[in-house]
Amino acid sequence: MPRPIQATIHTEALRHNLSRVRQSAPDARVWAVVKANAYGHGLARVFEGLRGADGFALLDLDEAATLRGLGWRGPILLLEGVFELRDLELCSRLDLWHTVHCNAQIDMLATHKTHVPHRIFLKLNSGMNRLGFAPAQFRAAWARLNVLPQVEEISLLTHFSDADGGAGIAQQLAVFERITQDLPGERSLSNSAAILRHMGHAGHGEAGLSSDWIRPGVVLYGASPDHPAHSVADWGLQPAMSLRSRIVATQTLDVGDTVGYGSTFCAPVPMRIGVVACGYADGYMRSSGPQGTPVLVNGVRTRSVGRVSMDLMTVDLTPVPDADIGSEVTLWGQSSDGVLLPIDEVAAAGGTIGYELMCALAARVPVVVA
Ligand SMILES: *Cc1c(COP(=O)(O)O)cnc(C)c1O
Repeated sequence: MPRPIQATIHTEALRHNLSRVRQSAPDARVWAVVKANAYGHGLARVFEGLRGADGFALLDLDEAATLRGLGWRGPILLLEGVFELRDLELCSRLDLWHTVHCNAQIDMLATHKTHVPHRIFLKLNSGMNRLGFAPAQFRAAWARLNVLPQVEEISLLTHFSDADGGAGIAQQLAVFERITQDLPGERSLSNSAAILRHMGHAGHGEAGLSSDWIRPGVVLYGASPDHPAHSVADWGLQPAMSLRSRIVATQTLDVGDTVGYGSTFCAPVPMRIGVVACGYADGYMRSSGPQGTPVLVNGVRTRSVGRVSMDLMTVDLTPVPDADIGSEVTLWGQSSDGVLLPIDEVAAAGGTIGYELMCALAARVPVVVA
C-alpha cells in the first residue's frame, strides 16, 4: 500500500470560482492564470474545470505547448513574454500572445521572421517596479511596436502591487490612465485581489476599475488574495485542492514528555497524539508558531504539536478521542465529509500565504481529480 497522503483536485470548485470571478467583472474576458503548473494543482488536472475561461495565461513555453496538446485552441498569453529569439518561433507555431516588457523583446520581435503577425500585450510599469516600461518610455515602445510588420495588435497591460490592501490601486491606476488614455487597444489590469476588492461586486467595488481582460490566479484555486482581511468564506470561494493523509501511529504522553526533533513540544497534561504521514518533503511547511498549525482529524479541528519532519508530523488528539491509526487527517481544503480548513489559515500559522503552500505541493504526493 502506498503512503496514505493524497491531494484531490476539485473540478467543480474550479468551475465555481471561475463563475465567482465573472460575477465581479461580468463584462471582462478572463485569463485563467495557470503559471507554476496551475499553482501546484497540475495544468492538465485543472484544464477541465477552467476551460470555461476566455484564455489561459502562464509563463513557460512548455506549459503553453501542454495546453495546445490538451486541445485548447483559444488565446494563450505569455505573462513575461519571450526570453530568447527562438521562443518567438514557438509563439508563431502555437499562436501564443505575448507580453512585451522591455526593449530587448522588441529587438527580438523586429528580427523575427513570421507570416503570422503577433498579438502583443505591452506592459507598463505603473509603480510595481518589477517588469514593464517606465511611464516615460511607454509611448515610444508602443510607437516602435506599432510599425513592426510582426505585430498584429497591441493591448495594454499593467500589474498592481497593493490591490490586496496597503497603498491600494489608485495611484498606479492614475499612472496607467494618464499614459495610455489616447492609445487604442484592449486593457488588461486586475489580479485576484483587484477583481474582488476593486471591481464592481456589491459592497466591495471601488469605482473606476474596468478592464477588458482580467487575470485571476489564486482566486480560481479557492484561496483568498487578501487573507486575513477576507476569508474564502467572505469571498464565496471553494478550495480547489484538498490535501489529506492518515494517522499511521499514536503515542500516549505523560506530563513532561516531549515530541519530535528538538523536543520543542512538552506535554502539559497527559495526552494522546497522532503521527501523520505528511512532512516537509510533501510540501508542508516546517515552520510554524508556538500554537502549531491547524489540521482536521476525522473532520474535527485540532493542531500540530512539535516539529514537522521530512515525512511525518504529530497532532494533538485531545479533541478527537475516537481517532486512531487510519483516521483521516486533512492538512488543507476539505475533509471527505465536507469540513473546511482554508489553506490561508494553515499558511498564516506558518508565516506564509496560501499561494506559496499550494505551489509547494511536492511531486511525490499522488494527486487525483474529483
Ligand atoms: C501571477 C499573476 C497574476 C495572478 O495573480 P493572483 O494574485 O494569483 O491573482 C496576474 N497577473 C500577472 C502578471 C501575474 O504574474
